[in-house]
Amino acid sequence: MRDPEAAFRELTGHLQALIRLRTVNPPGDEILAARYLADVLGAAGLEPRLLEPFAGRGSVVARLRGDGSGGGPLLLLGHLDVVPVDADRWTQDPFAADIVEGYVYGRGAVDMKSMVAMELQVVLGLAADTRAAGGRPDRDPVPGLRRDIIFAATADEEAGGHQGAGWIVDHEPQLLRAEACLTEAGGVSIELAGRRFYAIGVAEKGFHRFEITVRGQGGHASMPRDDNAALLAGRVLERLGRPTAPRVTPLMAAAVRAVAGSLPGDPRATGERLLAGETAGICDVPTGRALHALLRDTISPTIVRAGVKDNVIPGSATIVVDCRTLPGTSAADMEAELRGHIGAELWASCTATTPLPPGAALEQPMPHPLYDLCAATITRHDPGSVAVPVMAPFATDAKHTVRLGIPTYGFSPLRLAPDEPFLERFHGDDERVSLDALRFGLPVLDEVVRTYCG
Ligand SMILES: [Zn+2]
Repeated sequence: MRDPEAAFRELTGHLQALIRLRTVNPPGDEILAARYLADVLGAAGLEPRLLEPFAGRGSVVARLRGDGSGGGPLLLLGHLDVVPVDADRWTQDPFAADIVEGYVYGRGAVDMKSMVAMELQVVLGLAADTRAAGGRPDRDPVPGLRRDIIFAATADEEAGGHQGAGWIVDHEPQLLRAEACLTEAGGVSIELAGRRFYAIGVAEKGFHRFEITVRGQGGHASMPRDDNAALLAGRVLERLGRPTAPRVTPLMAAAVRAVAGSLPGDPRATGERLLAGETAGICDVPTGRALHALLRDTISPTIVRAGVKDNVIPGSATIVVDCRTLPGTSAADMEAELRGHIGAELWASCTATTPLPPGAALEQPMPHPLYDLCAATITRHDPGSVAVPVMAPFATDAKHTVRLGIPTYGFSPLRLAPDEPFLERFHGDDERVSLDALRFGLPVLDEVVRTYCG
């Protein structure tokens, strides 16, 4: 980067502009952000393609050219939609993108408009190189670039991506086809016992949604009965809250080994403590919760419905259950797990259906040159830190890129303050990202992209 400070200021401006465009999904309206990005990319001399397969659900794709001698393209993928806010619980306006005490506040500041803005800034820097060499970014190769770079910012990730990345993969796959991809859910620092780790995403858990209908007996609320479906549902919920048995996948065993080996004390004992969920003194509560989730299939009841009137005992109740699965757990396995939790007697009053097609867990190829480059670059920019390959506890749009056979890694580099509860920021109140984290991340991403493609 010629002028890192100017690039950083531009990055901050683009992030603020993106946050101010309300792309809450549902309904999405990502077209607002897609048009903004298309204008910026067009002004830089690129020829962005704006897609709007469903009204308001906009995505944008642009391509920088290399001379082709270095292999297939690198895809920089991000999503433009954000989750809804409960504005009363925020101390700042979630769509004003104000900077307060060194943080950019706003929905999407973390998930994931900051990474979209960083990807954009890297692309703009490369397009500027082409112009500086007298070329046209829409058709001439970037000086020194041997692969193409595809920038794609898409709609609908928060609701499965079917109107964004998934739609493009199904209908315009040539726009995204690449040799490797970088996207969200990794590359962010975590501080454990005074040591900084960068967890790079190389896998994600699968998801299964179940709707459990609990059958009871309705009646007049003046005469209580034990088979009230709301009471039965309460018993089901209580049992679903019990933890599932741990299962350590090879990836998580390696990740825990790498972390334990870099911490003070006996690595074996530390590793055993981490695997047993005894994380006090090693990591903060949110990180411990994430680790717990990565060592087992999980069950979270999310929606409970029963009753139609305040004086009528409900005859049935519905519980929506969100399950996240490790590699190797099938839908049938997960249903058996639910049955085991609820118990045969209570299960006899239940019917489970799957309202959504399941998503399989993903594991990216390892080792891989792009992973190695991300790990080497970020640890060089932050001497003494350790890179660790990890699984994300949730799904991203990687489920669509892998359908094109594209190895996809979670790497949105940010160096956080040691006490920053980053995992709580995802979909959280007062979502925010620090300017320092962005100032660190941009040159890391820029170097990874230029090196992989150069
Ligand atoms: Zn996201």
